[in-house]
Amino acid sequence: MQLKDKVALITGAASGIGKEIALEYAKEGAKVVIADLALDAAKATADEINKSGGKAMAVAMNVTDEAQVDKGIADAVAAFGGIDVLISNAGIQIISPIVDSTLENWRKMLAIHLDGAYLTTRAAMREMIKAGRGGSIIYMGSVHSHEASPLKAPYVTAKHGLIGLAKVVAKEGAKDKIRANVICPGFVRTPLVEKQIPEQAKQFGITEDAVVKTIMLKDTVDGEFTTTHDVAQTAIFLAAFPSNALTGQSIVVSHGWFMQ
Ligand code: NAD
Repeated sequence: MQLKDKVALITGAASGIGKEIALEYAKEGAKVVIADLALDAAKATADEINKSGGKAMAVAMNVTDEAQVDKGIADAVAAFGGIDVLISNAGIQIISPIVDSTLENWRKMLAIHLDGAYLTTRAAMREMIKAGRGGSIIYMGSVHSHEASPLKAPYVTAKHGLIGLAKVVAKEGAKDKIRANVICPGFVRTPLVEKQIPEQAKQFGITEDAVVKTIMLKDTVDGEFTTTHDVAQTAIFLAAFPSNALTGQSIVVSHGWFMQ
């Protein structure tokens, strides 16, 4: 039980990577707060954890909405007595060449990935400082925090931005034993990626199989997808790490697609 009695709030935890982290954190003894736009799905994940003997609650949270973020964090603190781990994970993908893209979609992407990370960080840090027991903040970056791909300008911009935010949080948080790190997964077969496969096939005029083999997995060492389990194990390691020695870093989990 590496996270026994730690309170972890995970955004976007009703699906994909965030959901797997919630399930794995609960197995490690954490009390888990499932914060998501999709409240019914968040409640279903929380029920699954509670039925199997863990502790979880769902909160409705659009991470771009200041009031909802502050309320979600306050509700979590009221129910579970603090926040020890924040995982800023909620995200979407919209693909388009820059020349065909819209300002509206650019703003939407930056709002979810960057405003969301900022707002949840601010609210969680305030609680962590008040409680005086330190904390771990983990951002869900991507290989696209380091590397670029066509059609993904706002996503790549936002994911690079998370590394800057993590470094500042690492410096400002150190005196209160708050660490900040970024996990950078390669392609993981979640709904976010399943949606992209036909979209990229259309944009590039190639088959869906070719999207997987010649775009998504081309530069991995073994042609394998990263899994939600791989990412969740990394998130456990980062949250359980005992000192400020590991802060301000990004860890790439991508079957060698990107090597630092
Ligand atoms: P997913 O679509 O399975 O899950 C995303 C979740 O975020 C959903 O439950 C959705 O309701 C929630 N969400 C979306 N907008 C929100 C908002 N404004 N407020 C609160 N919740 C919101 O996607 P996923 O693949 O699990 O992605 C999770 C994170 O991992 C994202 O930040 C994504 O960029 C990142 N990531 C994914 C991959 C991949 O290949 N799947 C790779 C690298 C990084």
